[in-house]
Amino acid sequence: MMIYKRSSALFAEAQEVIPGGVNSPVRAFKAVGGDPIFVKEAKGAYLFDEDGNKLIDYINSWGPMILGHAYQPVVDAVIERTKKGTSFGTPTELETEIAKLAVKMVPGIDKIRFVNSGTEACMSAVRLARGFTGRDKIIKFAGCYHGHSDSFLIQAGSGAVTFGSPNSPGVTQGTAKDTLLAEYNNLDQVREIFEANKEEIATVILEPVAGNMGCIPPAEGFLEGLRDLCQAHGALLIFDEVMTGFRLAAGGAQELTGVQADIVTFGKVIGGGLPVGAFAARNEIMNHLAPLGPVYQAGTLSGNPLAMAAGLAMLQALDQDREIFKRLEQKTEYLHKGIAQVLTENRITHTINRVGSMISVHFAEEAVTDFASASAGANETFKKFFHGLLAEGVYIAPSAYETWFITDALTYEDLDATIAAVAKIAPTL
Ligand code: PLP
Repeated sequence: MMIYKRSSALFAEAQEVIPGGVNSPVRAFKAVGGDPIFVKEAKGAYLFDEDGNKLIDYINSWGPMILGHAYQPVVDAVIERTKKGTSFGTPTELETEIAKLAVKMVPGIDKIRFVNSGTEACMSAVRLARGFTGRDKIIKFAGCYHGHSDSFLIQAGSGAVTFGSPNSPGVTQGTAKDTLLAEYNNLDQVREIFEANKEEIATVILEPVAGNMGCIPPAEGFLEGLRDLCQAHGALLIFDEVMTGFRLAAGGAQELTGVQADIVTFGKVIGGGLPVGAFAARNEIMNHLAPLGPVYQAGTLSGNPLAMAAGLAMLQALDQDREIFKRLEQKTEYLHKGIAQVLTENRITHTINRVGSMISVHFAEEAVTDFASASAGANETFKKFFHGLLAEGVYIAPSAYETWFITDALTYEDLDATIAAVAKIAPTL
């Protein structure tokens, strides 16, 4: 049994000076109850908390640590850069180096602009799409999360849903009216929205593999259909690859699915664990950005040398060993099969979704294909599942709307230990 004495004490202390004790809401465990774990350090596949517990980590900083925690080349790159100064606000060669590598790895992009988070990347991508098309409205999908900027907090997934405030106070009606909502995997609905808003839609933005209502793959023909609709109506297609980029393949979901977006956004893996986001497109679109074009976008710390050094070391590792993506998928499949077998043996209703190294366990009978079906899962069972696993030293995301991230640092022994933990707690679910 784990002890959480110090974590709980630290949480109480944090709540005095930080709203809810956390700097990002999902960390507070509200969806599952209990106090969050305070981490002391992490290495490879494991977290070590303030009470001395060792946990197998399936959150991995919500995606960035695809090669495990404290991956040595990233750590070394950051230490070396730090000695030379932490920020200049003037260009460095490093920015061109990582940009070149990203342009090489990702299909169909000529230029990339670095920012500081996935939120910034998606917010800027939409502004660019609006500037490029001269239109205001955007289509987004229920359950897709694109960060916390105002236009996106309309039925956003994971954190926003977990807190039951999909339409956050503070987002004005003026902003909300330009965000049109569709169901994920419902192409007919998107077609209808386009018909009803002729020449008004600037962009369709989506997670090409959804990861913020659990993991939901795009239905066959869905992405291709969106591609065609955007083409036919003069709108730009934005793939939010903050989660999927440099994870599902070197070229992300675009490479995996063969569907090309007009603008692609990145975050998480691209920063190797430092605060980095990016958006990219072909020249025709990117040349609309300041200082080349009229669409304004900027950042004091954008392209920060430490962040770029970490990101470059990460992308180089992924570029040099493309087998990583195959290995990750094999590990994820192994885990999927192991957990499914145990839950089936214990007659527990479940659906497991998986794409590449993204996986989610839903306590639902029906296929989970959109936000409504993701919400139909038994949340009480999930809570028991979460706390049961935690007590066994397995740390999954504290919300049924989150995806688990498999890393290259996980060994088959770790996966077996995880499956054994599920077997142990299954009778209690
Ligand atoms: N887009 C997607 C698909 C995400 O999963 C996230 C974060 O989880 C974001 C955007 C926002 O990124 P950030 O939290 O870095 O602002």
